[in-house]
Amino acid sequence: MYFELSKEQKMTREKVREFAENEIATMVQNEDEFASYNRSFLSKIGLLGVLGICIPKKYGGSGLDYNCLAIACEELEKEDTGARLTITTHVAAFALTLLQWGTADQKHRYLVPATKGQVIGAFAITESQDGSDINNISTTAVREGDYYILNGTKMWVSLINVADVFLVFARTGPAGDKKNISCFIVDGNFPGVQTQNIYGKMYIRLADTGQLILNNVRVPVENMLGEEGEGSTIAFSSVDNARFTVAAGAVGVIQGCLDASVKYGRERQAFCQPIGRLQLVQSMIAEIAAGAEIARLLVYKVGWLKNEGKQCGRETALAKWYACDAAFKAASHSIQIHGAYAYLNRYPLERYLRNAKGAMIYTGTSEIQEIILAEYALGFRENKILRMQLPSWPFEEDD
Ligand SMILES: Cc1cc2nc3c(=O)[nH]c(=O)nc-3n(C[C@H](O)[C@H](O)[C@H](O)COP(=O)(O)OP(=O)(O)OC[C@H]3O[C@@H](n4cnc5c(N)ncnc54)[C@H](O)[C@@H]3O)c2cc1C
Repeated sequence: MYFELSKEQKMTREKVREFAENEIATMVQNEDEFASYNRSFLSKIGLLGVLGICIPKKYGGSGLDYNCLAIACEELEKEDTGARLTITTHVAAFALTLLQWGTADQKHRYLVPATKGQVIGAFAITESQDGSDINNISTTAVREGDYYILNGTKMWVSLINVADVFLVFARTGPAGDKKNISCFIVDGNFPGVQTQNIYGKMYIRLADTGQLILNNVRVPVENMLGEEGEGSTIAFSSVDNARFTVAAGAVGVIQGCLDASVKYGRERQAFCQPIGRLQLVQSMIAEIAAGAEIARLLVYKVGWLKNEGKQCGRETALAKWYACDAAFKAASHSIQIHGAYAYLNRYPLERYLRNAKGAMIYTGTSEIQEIILAEYALGFRENKILRMQLPSWPFEEDD
């Protein structure tokens, strides 16, 4: 067992932290208030190289390992969730899914431009009636010659206004059977594709969320990802990668809460001493510190399993469940420690609380993670070797 970060991981942390402190911290308060996410922010993130961070160099990526992805998410989310959600959506849910399941032609057409930030990808499975229960989606895909005709509406699609391409999950047979779900790569400029923003969100205002409306969209058969009926498996592998980054980002929130609480605990005086000397305040700080340490270990273990090419559905669910719950608790404690000042948005704490709540819902709610964990423990669920695997690290072609 070796707990030291590699040279590349340390460099990733430094580089992303510097970017987050200089580029995100300075504008996030305004962006959060006015929810004015735009493509110029993506261009900046693109220059950082994180849009292709753990994609092999032969596809235009940086070829770094999966824990570099985790560390980047941690540092971005320490400043704001929207920046991390961009990586969750574009890198984890879109690019890694193409890397795992795409044909050589699909990788050439979509993955290579995505790693360079020339194309932004998103992931669309949820519908107004189906979030957790993805096998019951209503969007249909009917084969007509060399095309599938897609009809339906997807909800809560992250990066809705900036994405160029969507991974869309649709039914190629009757509802309720996971063998009838298939996955399609849908260009935003295919006729019949429309997007609509969702306004008035409680959290993640530095990222768009919206509806993807598909009205008789003709998708060429060569844009099917994986095989017909493999969509449910693809969705789960994609969501698993996304969960890993959500858990990593939650570590950043906990660390942010810890840093702020320690600083305030040393400075703020009550009863003729710093409040950090008061044992009930110490109790909250200890809980935040434990959350940061445990969540980080759980996340890095998942990164290590991915590097080794091992299945890690169980460990990912555990990391996501623990880290997101701990982040929400940390934000709540941190607000308590800051007293009335926490109500001001010049402190990041109320934003941390709103954003941490969101992470307990998307990419599978906390309850769903609990169920997954229990099912592994009970032997009702097991890791399966999939037809296509996410490549282990170091990537062969980068040697
Ligand atoms: C900001 C944001 C961004 C998102 N981005 C995307 C995206 O990019 N792409 C995408 O496809 N989706 C996205 N989503 C959707 C998200 O993944 C779903 O909201 C999530 O999976 C939960 O689904 P739901 O909201 O329909 O809740 P439901 O499934 O309706 O669940 C409601 C409640 O019931 C509980 N519940 C459901 N089933 C069970 C069960 N079997 N046992 C116990 N409890 C259960 C849940 O835990 C929850 O508490 C996003 C959502 C948000 C809020």
